[in-house]
Amino acid sequence: MTRLKNLRRVNCVSSKIINMKFYPLAKPYITAKDKASVLEVLNTNYLSLGPKLSEFEKKFAKKLGVKYACAVSSGTAGLHLSMLAVGIGAGDEIITTPFSFVASANSILCVGAKPVFVDINPLTYNLDPAKIKEKITSLPADRRKKLKAILVVHIFGQCCDMGAIQRLASKYKLLIIEDACESIGAAYKGKLAGTFGQAGVFAFYPNKQMTTGEGGMIVTNSKKIYEICNSLKNQGRAKNDQWLNHKSLGYNYRLDEMSAALGISQLEKLDFMIRKRRQIAAWYNEILKPYDDIVQSPMTAAVNTHSWFLYVIKIKNKKIDRDLLIANLKKAGVSSKQYLPSIHLFDFYKKLFGYKKGDFPVSENVSGHSLALPIYLGLTRRDCEYIIHKLIAEINNLNDAG
Ligand SMILES: *Cc1c(COP(=O)(O)O)cnc(C)c1O
Repeated sequence: MTRLKNLRRVNCVSSKIINMKFYPLAKPYITAKDKASVLEVLNTNYLSLGPKLSEFEKKFAKKLGVKYACAVSSGTAGLHLSMLAVGIGAGDEIITTPFSFVASANSILCVGAKPVFVDINPLTYNLDPAKIKEKITSLPADRRKKLKAILVVHIFGQCCDMGAIQRLASKYKLLIIEDACESIGAAYKGKLAGTFGQAGVFAFYPNKQMTTGEGGMIVTNSKKIYEICNSLKNQGRAKNDQWLNHKSLGYNYRLDEMSAALGISQLEKLDFMIRKRRQIAAWYNEILKPYDDIVQSPMTAAVNTHSWFLYVIKIKNKKIDRDLLIANLKKAGVSSKQYLPSIHLFDFYKKLFGYKKGDFPVSENVSGHSLALPIYLGLTRRDCEYIIHKLIAEINNLNDAG
């Protein structure tokens, strides 16, 4: 009897929780087919280095329209190997953005090179080509010699201004590596993110447009880069795949078969999933329109096709405490998050390179006043209306309070 009573109480509490709306920031879209494809692998003897890995790589390369794809255990691993594969190392300097997930700049540190940050465009939040040029031309000759590459990051699902960046790269003889971890399916003038540089890297963490749990992919048209990545991800193994023949220092950055199987299944519905994200973003844009004096909604450059990793807005009134807004929204059942802190202001970057507040004001301004709203398959127009309604109400509350 007591047990029954307890049970009833539990049910009562849980139904109360269910009745309160709560929107997470992201949610993977996993279907019965995804689950079946992972289970299928578990019923075989191949849990790693099996047929799913090469199938995933081949299908991914085809989808991107590139010659080679090399699956790895994370986007971060992919960035690390790309740096090594194009020959970047100690003493080299790499131009990149401070407005990114820390993994992009860290991949430069991982190979002993130095990131040279350049500020971003205030509307697209991507690297500003004019500022790249300014940076290059302002460097003394000895520093300019050390410049080897531009690591572009296509932020939030939108490509950088690749025309201008490619012109600069060829003028100053710099390689291009693309961190396309947030931008699978995004395009600049119809050309897909990840296909502009010597190598492009994608990530499949559960909050990305498609997922393998953990996982990543390097794409390239260079056989040499492909072969180096393939070897290094597997302990530096020689090409003939002899189990204990290691020709160089390597890593274990392999993607297992369960993840690869999930990747194949997710890739099949990638276009559908991106279409759904575009629909949600379009709803947000439309619902936010009357509030454009309060909130700056994301800007998509006319030459770009967005793939919406995140929907990030900026609060126009700089006096509003963004972190307090995030906390209040959470209480109202809406998850949101700061995207992103500026990398140059992390302690270890400040210590290593002497960066300080004010060095990249555009990036810092976006870091200080922006937040990401929920975006995942299953959100309806009504959900979007609810979320924006809460957002505006909480901003107004803070306006009145301060
Ligand atoms: C997600 C992401 C990565 C890589 O992430 P992993 O978690 O290592 O797969 C790299 N750069 C950017 C910009 C990202 O958003």
